[in-house]
Amino acid sequence: MEVYNLFYGAVYLFTGLWTGSFLNVCVWRFPRRLSPIKGRSSCPRCGHALSPGDLVPVFSWLFLRGRCRYCHRPISRRYPLTEALTGLVFLLCFYVFGAGFQSVPACLFASALIAAAWIDWDFTYIPDGISLFILLAGLISFIPLPACGLLTRFSWGSLGDHVVAAVLIGSALFIVSRLTGGGIGGGDIKLLAAAGFYLGLPRGLLAMLGGYILAAVWVAPALLRGKIHRRSSIPMAPFFAVSLILSLLWGEQLLIWYLNLVFCRGV
Ligand SMILES: [Zn+2]
Repeated sequence: MEVYNLFYGAVYLFTGLWTGSFLNVCVWRFPRRLSPIKGRSSCPRCGHALSPGDLVPVFSWLFLRGRCRYCHRPISRRYPLTEALTGLVFLLCFYVFGAGFQSVPACLFASALIAAAWIDWDFTYIPDGISLFILLAGLISFIPLPACGLLTRFSWGSLGDHVVAAVLIGSALFIVSRLTGGGIGGGDIKLLAAAGFYLGLPRGLLAMLGGYILAAVWVAPALLRGKIHRRSSIPMAPFFAVSLILSLLWGEQLLIWYLNLVFCRGV
């Protein structure tokens, strides 16, 4: 069992690191309407095509001491950070959902959120393709494919329950957006509706609440110091991405713990 865990843990970590590298390409190319699979990767500063040795996740950045091999200008820490983070999230998906088909949609879901977070951070918009991809990951989670010899399905509730979750979360946010004169962006609404479809209503709502709490904690000091104003547009996808991934991994345990605390005290 130990060897099994170590082997699959390494596979998930390795896959996550390379997926993180691919996500860096997507984050750079999607907003510029470029295909993430066409053409070779190049240095964002000098445009020089990168060799396979320059593209090894995390290690190339460390080996080159955070500088481009050709123009010697600094390469953002974000690249190795995204790769390491994606590797860690894949590893956690394995430890929570096990190896095999159960964890595949979870990894796809988390990857899409990491890309959405950076694109929103840079450009304050979330491509519709990312929300569609999350819907697709949700649909995949309903396919009862055999995993490691067992018939498994990573999902709670029926497909109908999850559709209701998406519609409820999407329409509630749409109404709030209308009432507040666009206080919530259309991209955020679509992202959360799609994530609600994936996670189901309890974990979807938990993540939504968690995202707003994280954003408030992040924004409050800047607001108090007058660095941003109440009407400033704040990219929400990074906060939702963190809370949605946490809810994916541990939302159910957190909800069960909370419900026990509220309803079953002393039982
Ligand atoms: Zn360069």
